[in-house]
Amino acid sequence: MATKVLRRRELTVWEKLYVPQIYCGLKITTAHFVRNLFLHTAHRVGLLKHLRASVTFQYPEEPRPFAFRFRSRHRLTVRDDGTPRCVGCMLCETVCPAKCITIVAGEHPDPNVEKYPVRFDIDLGICVYCGYCVEACPEDAIRMDTGIVDVAASSRDEMKLDIHELMNPALRKPIAECSLKFPHQCRLAEGQLRGSWDGSTDEG
Ligand code: SF4
Ligand code: SF4
Repeated sequence: MATKVLRRRELTVWEKLYVPQIYCGLKITTAHFVRNLFLHTAHRVGLLKHLRASVTFQYPEEPRPFAFRFRSRHRLTVRDDGTPRCVGCMLCETVCPAKCITIVAGEHPDPNVEKYPVRFDIDLGICVYCGYCVEACPEDAIRMDTGIVDVAASSRDEMKLDIHELMNPALRKPIAECSLKFPHQCRLAEGQLRGSWDGSTDEG
C-alpha cells in the first residue's frame, strides 16, 4: 500500500512572533461581536430582519429547539387505556445493531392483543441512536421524540432504562413505586420493580 507522507508547513517569521496572530484572532472575534450587537439592536427596532444574527442559548435553562426529525431519548407509546402499545414482537430487539434492547414478552389478558412486554429495557450506554428500532416497529410503539438529550449518569446501571422510564419519560431512577397501568402488577423486590400475575408468578 502506498504511503503518503504529509510534511507540516513551517511557520513563517511573522507567524512565529505570535502577537500578530493573536491580534488577528481578536479582530475576528470583535468583528462578530460588533456585527451581532448591531443586528440584534436593529432587530429590536424592526430593521434588517432578513439578516440573521447569532443566538446564544442559555442551556440548560433555555434548551435549544430540535428539528422535527431529531432522535432523542426513547419512549414507549401507550393505548387509550394507558397500557403499552408494544405487542412484544421483538422486531426492534432483532434489528438493533448495538444489541441494547431486552424484551420479555408475556401473554396479554385481552385475546385481541397477542402479547405485551413484561420487561422492556434499553441500555443507553451502548445505544447508537440509529433509530432502527423506531423504523422497524409495526405498532408505532416506540418513538425517539422525548426531546431528552441529557442522558448522562453516574453509573452504567442508571443508563439502562426500564419499562417504567420508557412509558413515562419523566421518571428517573430510583423508581420505588409503579403508578403506570400494565396488564400485570408491579411490586418492589430486592430494590427492583418486578411484574407479576396475581401477585404470584414473577415474570420480571
Ligand atoms: S436507536 Fe438503534 S441502537 Fe438504539 S435501541 Fe434503537 S435500534 Fe438499538
Ligand atoms: S416496540 Fe414495536 S417492534 Fe419492539 S417489540 Fe414492541 S411492537 Fe415489536
